[in-house]
Amino acid sequence: GDLNVKVPVDTKDEYGKVAQTFNEMTFQLRGAEEARRRLVADVAHELRTPLSVMQLKLENIQQAGHQVPPEMLLRLQDEVIRLSRLVDDLHVLSLAEAGRLSLDRKPLDLTVHLERIVDDVRYEAEENGLDIRLYTSSRAVTVIADARRITQVFFNLLTNAIRYTPRGGKITVEIEDRIVDRNASFACVSVIDTGIGIPADELPHLFDRFYRVDEARSRYSGGTGLGLSIAHHFVKAHGGFIRVTSRPDEGTVFSVFLPIADMTETR
Ligand code: ADP
Repeated sequence: GDLNVKVPVDTKDEYGKVAQTFNEMTFQLRGAEEARRRLVADVAHELRTPLSVMQLKLENIQQAGHQVPPEMLLRLQDEVIRLSRLVDDLHVLSLAEAGRLSLDRKPLDLTVHLERIVDDVRYEAEENGLDIRLYTSSRAVTVIADARRITQVFFNLLTNAIRYTPRGGKITVEIEDRIVDRNASFACVSVIDTGIGIPADELPHLFDRFYRVDEARSRYSGGTGLGLSIAHHFVKAHGGFIRVTSRPDEGTVFSVFLPIADMTETR
C-alpha cells in the first residue's frame, strides 16, 4: 500500500485531531514497513553467502567424481550446520523482537549455572590457548529466569570472548550480587576478555542484528552476527540489561544485569 498519504491538518476541531492522529499512525506504519523491508533485505543477504559457499563445495564434489574425499563432505556439512544455526537464530530473534518470546521462569542459582556453562566452553577456550576462570560470590545468587535462554546469553558472550581473544589471553567470568541500579537490585555477571577490543564508535551499534565490527574476521570465525542481538533481547525479556566497555587491543567487558529474585514474592 501507499503510505505516503497525508491528510492536511488545518482545523483545531475534532476533524483536525483525527487527521493528526491519522498522520502520526501513518508515520509509525511507514517506520515499521521500512524496518520490515530492511530485515528482508538483510536476511536475503545473509543467506546468500553460506548458499554460495555450499554451491561451490557441491561443484567441487561433483568434479571429484566417484572419489569424493571425506573432508569435502565434512566441509559441506559444516556449512549446512552453520546455515541451520543462522535460521534458528533468526527465528528466535524475530520472536523476541515481536515480544513473543516464551520464558519458562524458575528460581535459578547463577553460581551453579555459570559453573556448568564455563565448564562447557573450557575445552574450546583451552584449545584456543586461553585461560578461563570463574569468580563467584560466596552466597547463592538467585534469579527467576529461563535457564535455557540464560545459557544461550552466556554461551554467546563466552563464544565471542573466545573468538575475539588471541592465544595466550585470559577470560574471566565474575558474579556479583546485589548491585543497585535505578532503585532496583540486580545480580551482575561480567564476561571479561583480554582480546582485540571494540573501538568506541562501534559500541552503539554492537547489539544491532547482523552488525559486525570486522565483517571478514567475524564471518571467517563462524559468527552469524546475531549473537549479541539475541543476548540483548533475552536479557531484556527478563527485565535486565547488558552494559559493555571496551578498549581496542586491551579487551572487553560485557556485564549482564538480571533482577534479583525477591523471595517474598516467589514463594
Ligand atoms: P558475531 O556472530 O559476528 O560474533 P555478535 O552479534 O555476537 O556477532 O557480535 C557482533 C560483533 O561484535 C562481532 O562481529 C565482533 O565484531 C564484535 N564483538 C563481539 N564480542 C566481542 C568481543 N568479546 N571482543 C571483540 N569484539 C567483539
